[in-house]
Amino acid sequence: MSLSGKTAVITGSNSGIGLGVARELAKAGANVVLNSFTDRAEDHALAAELGAEFGVRAAYVKADMSQGTECRALVTQAADLMGACDILVNNAGIQHVAPIHAFPVEKWDAILAINLTSAFHTTAAALPLMRKAGWGRVVNIASAHGLTASPFKSAYVAAKHGIVGLTKVTALETAQEAITANAICPGYVLTPLVEAQIPDQMKTHNMSREDVIRNVMLDRQPSKQFATVEQIGGTTVFLCSAAADQITGTAISVDGGWTAL
Ligand code: NAD
Repeated sequence: MSLSGKTAVITGSNSGIGLGVARELAKAGANVVLNSFTDRAEDHALAAELGAEFGVRAAYVKADMSQGTECRALVTQAADLMGACDILVNNAGIQHVAPIHAFPVEKWDAILAINLTSAFHTTAAALPLMRKAGWGRVVNIASAHGLTASPFKSAYVAAKHGIVGLTKVTALETAQEAITANAICPGYVLTPLVEAQIPDQMKTHNMSREDVIRNVMLDRQPSKQFATVEQIGGTTVFLCSAAADQITGTAISVDGGWTAL
């Protein structure tokens, strides 16, 4: 399956799932625009390496997904650089864990802005470009927490349920065009975001790293295995394929059976 000639913009893609998705899209032949809020030489080098490895055009564009104007500018800048924005992957996300009564307001605001509102802005900027091109794909990286809840993750769960809703509305507004919008709902994927939670969990539960992974993190993941960034990338590539032309408005779980419980 070739995405040759298509351009993909992936938010929050200098690490973790975003980078994994960008790699799989580039492997399938798409030109890719990587993004995060930093502007380091290594961010640009990452794009150059990816382009060279897969023989596609690749660029890095700095934009802070907590700022609406920067979200919209990412899409327009990407289109200026590459000539299009055919595939939009809304992936940027952060996490904070605390009970509601003690949840810091600034963390709530940041999570809602980066994990949910950014996708509204990028989608608003990208849809006119997709309509002009006569083809488009919006893939929102939600979470098993877009379909189910856990205590102490109020902002994250609210944002992820919100992005599943936004996905459905995007799908309905584009249903009669060659544009689809779907959410991918990963269970636990071992990325820097998850890795950073392990020491805290070890302290809280007084457990070894292995016990935290198996008995706390993967407690609700019946496969007892992390999903991989390649699997999330592969699912994204599938959603961009012709086989998925009639798949729109869905939330696809890649969670080892978590939401089947
Ligand atoms: P990660 O921390 O490795 O990556 C997050 C990415 O978002 C990074 O590239 C980071 O630079 C970027 N980012 C953060 N704040 C940003 C901002 N203000 N502007 C632009 N970019 C910003 O985390 P990850 O695990 O790869 O998570 C990626 C997405 O997948 C998130 O939306 C997360 O909620 C979702 N997800 C992750 C898991 C998991 O287990 N890892 C499970 C389900 C869903």
